[in-house]
Parts: sequence; C-alpha cells; structure tokens
Amino acid sequence: MTEKSEFVYSKKNVWEYLNKEEKEAALHIGENFKRYIKHAKTERETINITREFAENNGYKPIDKITGQLRPGDRLYQEIKGKALVIALIGEIPITNGINIIGAHVDSPRLDLKVHPLFEQNGLALFKTHYYGGIKKYQWLSLPLALHGVVIRGDGLKINICLGEDDNDPVFTITDILPHLAKEQMDKKVLEAFPGENLNALCGSLPIELNEVKERVKESILGILNRHYGIVEEDLLSAELELVPAIAPRDVGLDRSMIGAYGQDDRVCAYGVLKAINELERPVNTAIAIFSDKEEIGSVGNTGMYSNFFTNFMAELLNKNAGQYNELMLRRTMRLSQALSADVNAAVDPGFEDVMEKNNAARLGCGLVITKYTGSGGKKGANDAHAEYMARVRKIFNDNKVIWQTGELGKVDQGGGGTIAYMLANLGMDVVDCGVALLGMHSPYEVSHKADIYMMYKGYQAFYNS
Ligand code: MN
Ligand code: MN
Repeated sequence: MTEKSEFVYSKKNVWEYLNKEEKEAALHIGENFKRYIKHAKTERETINITREFAENNGYKPIDKITGQLRPGDRLYQEIKGKALVIALIGEIPITNGINIIGAHVDSPRLDLKVHPLFEQNGLALFKTHYYGGIKKYQWLSLPLALHGVVIRGDGLKINICLGEDDNDPVFTITDILPHLAKEQMDKKVLEAFPGENLNALCGSLPIELNEVKERVKESILGILNRHYGIVEEDLLSAELELVPAIAPRDVGLDRSMIGAYGQDDRVCAYGVLKAINELERPVNTAIAIFSDKEEIGSVGNTGMYSNFFTNFMAELLNKNAGQYNELMLRRTMRLSQALSADVNAAVDPGFEDVMEKNNAARLGCGLVITKYTGSGGKKGANDAHAEYMARVRKIFNDNKVIWQTGELGKVDQGGGGTIAYMLANLGMDVVDCGVALLGMHSPYEVSHKADIYMMYKGYQAFYNS
C-alpha cells in the first residue's frame, strides 16, 4: 500500500502516475533513444549525430552568424569533433543569466594503443589501453567493434566502423577456459585480469611470403591497406576504440527497460538534445553542453576542465553586444543556473548491500537529483546548496516531473565525480541530475524508459524556468 501520511515523503513509481498518452510518449522516446545510441558509440560519433540533428533543426555555426543576435536564434560551436555547445537565444538579455544543461559524450571503452598490432603464436592481436573505469573481466569473451579515425601521412582522415553490420567481422578478447583457470580463480578479481593482457584477436591467416618474419601480421596490414589505404605508421596518428558490438534492445517481457552500451552518459546527452530542440521561445537563453573526457577527469581541450565553454560564452557575448567585456562574461556565468546531466546508480537487487536504501535511486522512480557526488567524505563533490536544491525541486514539482534523489553508494563504499564542480567553478549554481542505471560502466548498461521520459520533461522544465 502507498503511504497515505500527509507528512512523509516517498518515492513514486513513474509508471503508476502516467496517463495513456504519457505512457505512449515514454515508449516513443525509448524507441528514438535506441536509434540515437545505436550509432553513437564513440565521443566523435555522438558529437557528429548531435551536431547533425541540431543543424537539421536550424542551428548554425556561431562563426557563420552575422549581425545582432535575436531571440529564437539557434547557434552552435563544435570543438575538435569531440565536444559541442549549442545555444537557443532567449527573450531577455544573456547577461541576466542563462540556463545550462551539460552532459558528457565519452564512455568507458578499450582504446587501441599507438602501436597496436602484434603477432604471437600464429595469431594477430591488437594491444589496448582501457579508457575510464571498467571491470576488466566484463570485456572478455564479447564481440567487439572497431570505431574511430586514422589520419594518413598525407592528411586524409579515414573513418572506420567495423563490426556493427551483421556481415562485418568482429574482434574479441578471449578468456581462459574454466578447466585451466585454477590460478585465475584463486586471484582477486583486480589482479586476475591484468590490463596489459586485454589484447583483441584480429587475424590468423599467414601471408604466402617466406622472407617476412611475422606473416599473419603482414597479412592483416595488407587487408588494412586494401580496405583503408593505410600502412602501419598511419596507426600512430589514429584513434581507434573497441566497443561492444551489441545493438540496443528492449529488456524485459514488458519492454520497460533499455539495454545498451554507452548510456553513461549518452542517455542524458540525448535528453538534453531533445529538450533544447523542442523549446519554443525560452525567456532565458538555453545552452546545452556536450563534453568529452569526463571518464578520465575532464582533462584536455575537449574536456569540461578546459576553456571550451568559456570561449564559447565569450564568442556569444561578443556577437550579442558587438564587443567583448570580461566583466560581462563573469556576471553572466555567476547569474546562470545549471544542471550537470549525468547518470547515477540504481539499486541492484543482486547488490543491495552497497547502497543505503533511504538515499539510493531506484529504476523507474524518475529523474534523479544528486546533491553531491565525491568519495571518502564528499571529497571532490560540488555539493549543491540547499537553496538551489529547493529551486530545482520546485521547478520539477510545478511541472509534474517525477523525480527522486540518489547518491553514489553507501558512505565510504566508493563514489565518483561528474562535470558539476567545473560548472560551479564559473560561479553558477549547479546540481547533478539524470537517470539511474543498472550495470553502469559495463558493456551493457540498463535504463528505464519512464525515467528517460521524466528526464526529458525535467530538462525542458528547467530550460523554461
Ligand atoms: Mn557519467
Ligand atoms: Mn561514468
């Protein structure tokens, strides 16, 4: 029975509160999200799809915009093909503050090393270096697809996407059979799967040429040359990523959930994109940030720790006022409000012990507001102010957004971080807000369609606030 007390707060199961049309809308968003994430398996692919979507909906590169900005203007700036900022100009001056929602588009994966290809025991393999926090054993015995770019010596960029079509070959990291795994089984999980051993099988046929020492490797290089026009040295100027060659699918007999790789944080990126795109004429200027390298600390010039967003804002203010003024930029940042759109962990029935039940998020109970992340005594957390929590809560309540709160596990259990504190560094209020996942950072993360629907509603309400 639902709690009937007028004082007690209790979580709501979103599905129980949706009418027929809303249930259909939630299922429809699920279908569109699966289509989006199916082709958004790397940071570059996600930015590409997101930018194309924005362009098809009237967004133009900021450099191409001339003259005074007007309410309703739609513009964007892409950074190195790996990060993107899009803006919809509002009715009131930008310097009165803007509404910002920022997600990240990178996900844990296996990067090929700079010198990846080697031959051993008659087999050709790719050496990898994992990216982000993974449980290494989860990446063994899986079909893996190769995505990325190779920049040839002559400067030509070759895009590679191999392993997604049913007729494509895939790659895989083999695991030892249980019969011979005694030593492996006796080890701690952390030690049983050395990162250096994450080598992906990529060939076994030797070339018919006796004077070449590594004939299988030679054969693989020949295939790469025939298909992509590249030689081994070209792999030094490449970014190739191995990702699960698994398509998004509905999970469950009731089709209520979605299983897919890379939902941290592309599920929130999708929600932000849909929310900003469907805005009509917001009062405050609306901005969506799609950042890179969050999983390795938001470093680099496409990461949130860099100046790419501040640079965009400087350009925007310059376009708006016809001149740049640092005080104006600082004021705008200080008067703005933001959501860090990132996922949180849902209670897993198999691992209830790592969560504290009153404070953990649950699948299907709506958009998750996370006041603080961090670990070991909130270290590294933004820890949103109570006043701002109240403001965001009111925005959601006023717009019938079903939300819950979450935390990343029990005290001293672990923890994590997001881009929230970097937005806060600019002076604005910010809180983490996204959907809960099961199996976060695994090759197959699970989200709930009702949560995705509430995320979209919540982000839209925030932009309109
Ligand atoms: Mn994340
Ligand atoms: Mn993550």
